[in-house]
Amino acid sequence: GLADRLQQTMQKIRGKGKVSEADVKEMMREVRLALLEADVNFKVVKEFVKKVSERSVGQEVMKSLTPGQQVVKVVKEELTELMGGEQSQIATAKRPPTVIMMVGLQGAGKTTTTGKLANLLRKKYNRKPLLVAADIYRPAAIKQLETLGKQLNMPVFSLGDQVSPVEIARQAIEKAKEEHLDYVLIDTAGRLHIDETLMGELEEIKELSSPEEIFLVVDSMTGQDAVNVAQSFNDTLGITGVVLTKLDGDTRGGAALSIRSVTQKPIKFVGMGEKLDALEPFHPERMAQRILGMGDVLSLIEKAQANVDEEKAKELEKKFREASFTLDDFLDQLGQVKQMGPLDELIKMLPGANKMKGIDNLKVDEKQLSHIEAIIQSMTTKEKENPEIINAGRRKRIAKGSGTTVPEVNRLLKQFEEMKKMMKQMSTMGQKAKKRGGFG
Ligand code: GDP
Ligand code: MG
Repeated sequence: GLADRLQQTMQKIRGKGKVSEADVKEMMREVRLALLEADVNFKVVKEFVKKVSERSVGQEVMKSLTPGQQVVKVVKEELTELMGGEQSQIATAKRPPTVIMMVGLQGAGKTTTTGKLANLLRKKYNRKPLLVAADIYRPAAIKQLETLGKQLNMPVFSLGDQVSPVEIARQAIEKAKEEHLDYVLIDTAGRLHIDETLMGELEEIKELSSPEEIFLVVDSMTGQDAVNVAQSFNDTLGITGVVLTKLDGDTRGGAALSIRSVTQKPIKFVGMGEKLDALEPFHPERMAQRILGMGDVLSLIEKAQANVDEEKAKELEKKFREASFTLDDFLDQLGQVKQMGPLDELIKMLPGANKMKGIDNLKVDEKQLSHIEAIIQSMTTKEKENPEIINAGRRKRIAKGSGTTVPEVNRLLKQFEEMKKMMKQMSTMGQKAKKRGGFG
């Protein structure tokens, strides 16, 4: 699938200290193939690869903490951009009721999503929806909506299957007005394929009911087909948003990536299951991370980039690798830790860190930071470079000089030892990962 392929590609480049134009080219070739294989529209892929390449070869990468990671970050940002911002709000008509039309192919999840949406409108916005059974063609479609209405304890409007859907919609809106219901959710019919009769009927319903929203429901499992469907529904009806269903399944990311850029309409919600509460706002960034499968690494990079001086970071990385970290480095780190947040949190975000022993001993109490600073500053250069020479007498002197206590000095030295041990573990882990072709 898309995720696997992208992850493999990402892994190759992630650990690179330097990224050449050839590296980027090679990676973009892989990304292009992966996206195409995942049924992403070829025009979308072309544009995407172009953007990422431009950003990756340029300045931006060279300045960064670790160029390989930066390329991954660019890919993530561009994926997010491709899917648009988060837009899960639902329009409200100036005068109630607000009409929402649910449209889409048969089996996409319209009826189920109608129920989910009604549930959300009541739960989150305290609204009173009316469910309207306007699919008179599919056997048992009316019954299905009525069952959902019962489960939700919400009214369902139906006139059987002998009255036209347009007339059903008209009467439903009347009824909502009379009963002071504020949303009318029209569950329309779908076909296996797009056909003109269906589109004509939907246009008529639209004409009559002036919907505030036309939500196109698409099955995320249908890939490129979903994109074609979205395009023709949008051309004919002018949809206002998309609901991507069945994302809980083993789905490829293709549909989510293409629909937005092909229709210019936002994906508003995603269906995450068959139950009535399984409708969630669409988070483009989360989706991009899911596709790339490396949320933690990315947030670590972001955090580090926001705060760490690049040169220092490179040096630190080298020291991590060589486990030649001194108390002076530790002191230096403290300044950055203050801006970055707790060091133990940062370390925990590294891949595999949760499996490391001693991680909990690393807690740096921020209130103690100034004491730690004072203690280290009270040491001689020799002591800082070789902490093992700090005997009882020296400890007393350091405590006095820094205005702290001997137990505090002891604790700091212990913490420092733990940290060095941890770095050794981490560098061995890094080397192992490199051999496996993993994070380096
Ligand atoms: P319609 O023909 O467009 O009205 O589609 P339905 O609402 O009848 O849904 C078709 C099938 O897809 C049903 O079995 C639903 O339970 C299922 N379904 C709909 N949305 C989701 C979803 O988000 N996740 C999963 N797993 N199944 C879904
Ligand atoms: Mg249906």
